[in-house]
Amino acid sequence: MTTATPSAETAPGPEPTAPDATPSVARETKRGGEQAALALFIGIPFLALLAAVPVAWGWGLGWHDIVIALVMYAIAGHGITVGFHRHFTHGSFKASRGLKVALAVAGSMAIQGPVVRWVADHRRHHAFSDRDGDPHSPWRYGETIPALAKGLWWAHTGWLFDVEQTPRSKYAPDLMADTDLQKVDRAFPLIVAGSMLFPALVGGLWSMSWQGALTAFFWASLVRVSLLHHVTWSINSICHTIGERPFKSRDRSGNVWWLAVLSMGESWHNLHHADPTCARHGIEKGQLDSTARVIWAFEKLGWATDVRWPVAKRIAARRVTTA
Ligand SMILES: [Zn+2]
Ligand SMILES: [Zn+2]
Repeated sequence: MTTATPSAETAPGPEPTAPDATPSVARETKRGGEQAALALFIGIPFLALLAAVPVAWGWGLGWHDIVIALVMYAIAGHGITVGFHRHFTHGSFKASRGLKVALAVAGSMAIQGPVVRWVADHRRHHAFSDRDGDPHSPWRYGETIPALAKGLWWAHTGWLFDVEQTPRSKYAPDLMADTDLQKVDRAFPLIVAGSMLFPALVGGLWSMSWQGALTAFFWASLVRVSLLHHVTWSINSICHTIGERPFKSRDRSGNVWWLAVLSMGESWHNLHHADPTCARHGIEKGQLDSTARVIWAFEKLGWATDVRWPVAKRIAARRVTTA
């Protein structure tokens, strides 16, 4: 259940089933150790992000660091947007086996959880968007200013610490049955280690110095991971609170232009909720959507097929009419 307007043509592929009252089937909960690890992986990069600005004025930032950080941000970021989101969650294109595995690994490098967990949460978000059962609605506590302030925090980061988890077997059985993805899911700790250490290795070898390794680790591992965390979470918090709503959706999703570059096109979130399986979110002229460009390139290479590009009639039917 994903669209504003009831339509038989929406949601083929692995969309979630219609919402039911409580997502309590096969309840999954987080253990204490997992909670602590989560706090470490969110907290330490965030402290690094806070420290980043003063460090930048000092000794610790060179163009090597910027290049490595940008490349890592683009790989992990598009792993999330092209892979975890538009392919695995919404089935907006079919991927060759090699591309599927590469996208699952690239998205895991963003350290936002293993692919099946991420997809289950996101499908549940679409099934209940901004209503009871949505894992991260900023409107959870109500509409007053204090309630919204609390809700924004919840939608941005708080929900990650919720002990009650989305049952994966209910929301992502298709991915759980995929043996390639099972392997990538199991390799998650290894991919996390690689994602954190690889920039340091490149930085060290590139400058042949320990300092090069250290600054690359700081910028291209800690700062990069934290920035991408906050950009992804901003889609859940900011893009469900403010932004333009030119399309009909039964939630509060909005298009937020100033997040388009950093979010790689994901902040055209109102269109996304209006037409969730569409491979392109920034459908208007000038709406940057690098994720759609990457999918387009994969299609040209023959790795992505059956891409669900925007269909004018569908889009028109979803537009808010001001009659
Ligand atoms: Zn949303
Ligand atoms: Zn989505």
